[in-house]
Amino acid sequence: MKFDIVTIFPRMFEGPTREGILGRAIERHLVDLRVHDLRDFTDDRHRTVDDVAYGGGPGMVLKPAPLFRAVEAIREERGVPEAVILTSPQGRTFTQAEAERLSRLGHVVLLCGRYEGVDERVRELVATEELSIGDYVLTGGELPALVVLDAVVRLLPGVVGDEQSVEQDSFRRGLLDHPQFTRPAEFRGLAVPGVLLSGHHAEVRRWRKRQALERTIDRRPDLLAAAQLDEEERAILREVQAQRKEESDDACD
Ligand code: SAH
Repeated sequence: MKFDIVTIFPRMFEGPTREGILGRAIERHLVDLRVHDLRDFTDDRHRTVDDVAYGGGPGMVLKPAPLFRAVEAIREERGVPEAVILTSPQGRTFTQAEAERLSRLGHVVLLCGRYEGVDERVRELVATEELSIGDYVLTGGELPALVVLDAVVRLLPGVVGDEQSVEQDSFRRGLLDHPQFTRPAEFRGLAVPGVLLSGHHAEVRRWRKRQALERTIDRRPDLLAAAQLDEEERAILREVQAQRKEESDDACD
């Protein structure tokens, strides 16, 4: 998969794209990433990327022309991308489902805003979509671009060693992940649940499904309605709900 990122701070990508799973995926050419310096697409001596806002007010705005030129150069050199994403707190919220959608594309461009944002004509004419990583405002689109890159790349075939670990992740089917334990079996007086040491695969699977369902009910009940549950999970869910109803009835008595 090809990724092109346009930024005024290309060095912000150096550390995160060298380390860990993302770094290895790039090294192994499972993802072809290019980071472009927006200043290379300016046409004045000072390499100006920003200007004051029409209508006045504090802060600068990224000029449209360098961003236009950058995307044109990417099209010429690297082919026509399937998505040109403007990072923006006003965009649709980036979710696991969005990451899965993007992971099925062959070529994605990410544009990083700065200052007060980007000239509106970039959104209208260059970007094919706008994505926000959450309801807060950052100083630039570089961290959001890295968030999108990281979440998408780990879904690409061959990137995460054990395919199953991606399959069982939180949100994958609309449920949170079950709790994880490693050695030692007892730590500061807290023991690992016995079933995990039992070696009964069916019981372990059932325990994990139950934990995932209970966590989702407790922490993110909003996810449950859209969750894709298998037959066993539906049965466990009914069991959990019946048990909880009993408990709350008892509490009322
Ligand atoms: N004045 C703008 C915010 C500008 S923040 C507004 O209120 O909409 C500067 C840049 O940081 C944005 O252009 C965008 O690229 C990036 N950015 C900030 N917060 C973001 C978020 N939550 N998600 C994605 N990008 C964000």
